[in-house]
Parts: sequence; C-alpha cells; structure tokens
Amino acid sequence: MPSIYLQTFGCQMNVADSNGLAHQAWSLGCTFTDAPDEADILILNTCAIREKAEMRVYSRLGQLKAIKRAQSKLLVAGCLAEKDRAVMRKKAPHVDALLGPRDYRQFKALLADWGVPTDLPPPETPMRLPSAEDAPGEDSPAQYAHLRALVSITRGCEKFCTYCIVPYTRGPLESIPPEEIETQIQREIRCGAKEITLLGQNVNSYLYEGLDFAGLLRRVSRIEGLERLTFLTSHPHDFNRDVVDALAELPNIEPRLHLPVQCGSNDVLAAMARLYTIEQYLEKIAYFRERLPRWALTTDIICGFPTETESDFLETLGLVERGTFEYAFVFAFSPRAGTPAATMEPQVPQEERLRRLQAVSAAQNERTRRFHESFIGETASVLVSGPSKKDPARMAGKTGHNITVIWPREASTEPKPVVEVAIEQAQTWGLVGRVA
Ligand code: SAM
Ligand code: SF4
Repeated sequence: MPSIYLQTFGCQMNVADSNGLAHQAWSLGCTFTDAPDEADILILNTCAIREKAEMRVYSRLGQLKAIKRAQSKLLVAGCLAEKDRAVMRKKAPHVDALLGPRDYRQFKALLADWGVPTDLPPPETPMRLPSAEDAPGEDSPAQYAHLRALVSITRGCEKFCTYCIVPYTRGPLESIPPEEIETQIQREIRCGAKEITLLGQNVNSYLYEGLDFAGLLRRVSRIEGLERLTFLTSHPHDFNRDVVDALAELPNIEPRLHLPVQCGSNDVLAAMARLYTIEQYLEKIAYFRERLPRWALTTDIICGFPTETESDFLETLGLVERGTFEYAFVFAFSPRAGTPAATMEPQVPQEERLRRLQAVSAAQNERTRRFHESFIGETASVLVSGPSKKDPARMAGKTGHNITVIWPREASTEPKPVVEVAIEQAQTWGLVGRVA
C-alpha cells in the first residue's frame, strides 16, 4: 500500500482538514511516514493568509523537489492550492496535483488515479499518523495528541473583510448538520479526546434548520463524556448576548473567548468592512465580562492596515494598554492580491507596519504577564501536551484559559491526561509550577 507524507501549514482549520484527508487515505489502506524521501505520495496542506505563510510553502516545495523520488506524486492542498491555481504549475512544475479546500471530496478519486485501490475493506487497525508511532509506549507528545480534537461546524466564510483571502479560497458559508457534528464528537471521545474545539471561520454564523450557534453549543455540551468544550473563531458582528448566556450555563465550557477586534479605530474598522464599531465591540464584551468574569478574552490585531493613520494606531494601542485582552495575536498587514485592501491607498510602509506591531505587542505582553501572575498560588487543572519541546525533563500542558504550563517530569508515574499543577511562577509565555 502507498505511504503518505503529510505536512500541514497554517490554522487549526487546516489541521482539521489534514485529519480528514488522512482519514480518507487511511480508509483505503494507505500508511503514513514522516520521511518525505520514502513516501509514495507527498501532501502539503497549505496556507495563504499572509505572504510569509506562502513563502514558507514555496520554500518547502523547493526542498521537496530535491528530496522527492521520481515515481512519487506531490499534491498541494489547501488555500494556496486554490489561490495560486493558475500560477502554481509555473512556480513549482514538480507539483502533480492541486486540491483546494472545496475539493476534498475528490481526494479519493485522485488517489485512485494514482493507483491506490479503492475496493478493499477499511483497515481494522486504528489510524495512526507517523508521529504517534515515533516511540510506542514512550511519553512523547504524540501519546497525548488524541486528547484534543478539532471538529468543524462550518465551512467557508462570506464576510469578505477587505484584507482577507479566506472567502476566495474556502468559498461561501456552509453549516454542517448537527447530527454529523455530534457523531464526530462522539467518535473523538471514544478515541480518548478530553477537549473538543468547534471550528469555523465565524462560528457565530452557524445556522442549520433554525439551530443557531448558541443552540448548537447547548446541544453538543450535553454529549456524554465531553469534559472540555471550546470554539474558534467568533466574529464580533454576530457574537451576541444569547451566546454569552449559553456559555454561562454550560458546565464543561473552557473559560476563554477569542473575539478578533482587528483594530481600535472606527475609520479603519469601516475600511476593513468588519461591520461593527469599537463602541459596539466594547458593549458586547462588557456583557461578556459581567456574566463571565474570570474568562480570558483573546483577540487578533492587524497593524498598518491601508489608510491607518498615527491617531488610528494610537486608538488600537490605547485599547491594548487599557488591558482589554488577556492575549493578542498581532499581525502586520499583508496585502493579498485580489482583495480590496491590496490596492487601497495610502498603503502604510512595511517598516511602519512593523513599528506599530512591535508597540502593540509590547503593550500586550505587559498585560499578558500580569494576567498570568494572577494565577500564582492557585492550582490549575492542566490538559497535558507531553514533554516540553524546549526541555524534555519537564512536562507541558494547557489550562482551561489556554495558558501554557510547565512542571518537572516525574519519571515513575503513569502518563495522565489531566494533571493538577500548583502554580509558582508566571512569565509572558505562560506558567511554571509543580504537581500539586
Ligand atoms: N475568521 C477569523 C476572524 O474573522 O477573526 C480569523 C481568520 S484568519 C485565519 C486569522 C487572522 O489573520 C485574522 O483575524 C486577521 O487578524 C489575520 N489576517 C487575515 N488576513 C490578513 C492579512 N491580509 N494581513 C494580516 N493579517 C491578516
Ligand atoms: Fe476572513 Fe473576515 Fe471571514 Fe475571518 S470573517 S475568515 S477575517 S473574511
């Protein structure tokens, strides 16, 4: 049976899509390898959200050209496959096929074209990606990967924020039937998942035969054995009090909300076509803070969007300095060809975008560290990720607020999915403690 090398770039949506592709290949009997020079089929699941993400993919494609065996096939999947459909063959002629995010139903047919038999019964052994086989029985991160599962509830996006490539690469919004979502969650729980993340570009736009996102949350949170539930990403325009009320009711929801603000200036929000004002955003989070006081609010911010003036930027900086967010992903604006913002005037020079990004990041780091310090002296229930990548003598995991925690590894104990850790120190990147 052919062996597959699969590498994923970009967001959690891509990780979920890669799992889906891997599952399709596994059901036909394919195996997986982490050695691209040994694989019969190489797949890159790609990202096009910013220029840097694209450059990473093209650089990897360059490396694979030298590594790939002559008879092997190379598939580029994901957003860059869709975005660069017309130019990929010229830029990377060694690519054998492209599959955009809307084409994944054609994956098995493509494998059949490449000689994979499609008439065999599915394998009896469970699907194992190569990392899970690295060190069977050992305490490696792969032994913990199944504890977290990503479950898509929508596909696509039709918000068309003026900077964003996603609606062009992933197509219009589609809500997945609740029964399908429940079945997948139940399957993941049977495989050992403790935390389920419901995924969508804008989960608040979920709507299936009258069932909205608040209703879906209430429904799936009742699934037996579901210990931790969370979701990504919310759009401030569609996020409402009903969702906050649902969150306040649910016993197994994790205390965190990712609600990307993008910037603090109404002029820039309008140019981004974000469909809310900063006052509306603040009103929504005031209700959220009132009902869910110890939750972590995280956000995305774009610095140096076209037309952003110094005073627009200072509004964003002020928002961050006032401690509005516990954590922020801060990006420099990256023009994406074909989106309205790519040709808006005036563009902010790249050095200025980076200066603003650094100022916002520095202010946010201060706030994040203070938030982390508030946990010193408490005991946190940590979902284990495995030995720390930086120091294998320590274990790492995440709290319900999604804060990284590390603690000394105890050699003799059985691996546990959840560990109670007494928090002793706080840093900007996370917390340090010991087993309570
Ligand atoms: N759908 C989500 C939302 O609306 O918040 C997230 C989509 S995107 C994968 C994640 C983040 O990337 C966005 O929130 C935005 O901050 C950032 N982003 C998207 N396009 C960008 C661009 N052209 N330049 C810089 N950052 C961008
Ligand atoms: Fe992109 Fe806006 Fe859709 Fe998010 S909501 S994926 S930023 S278009």
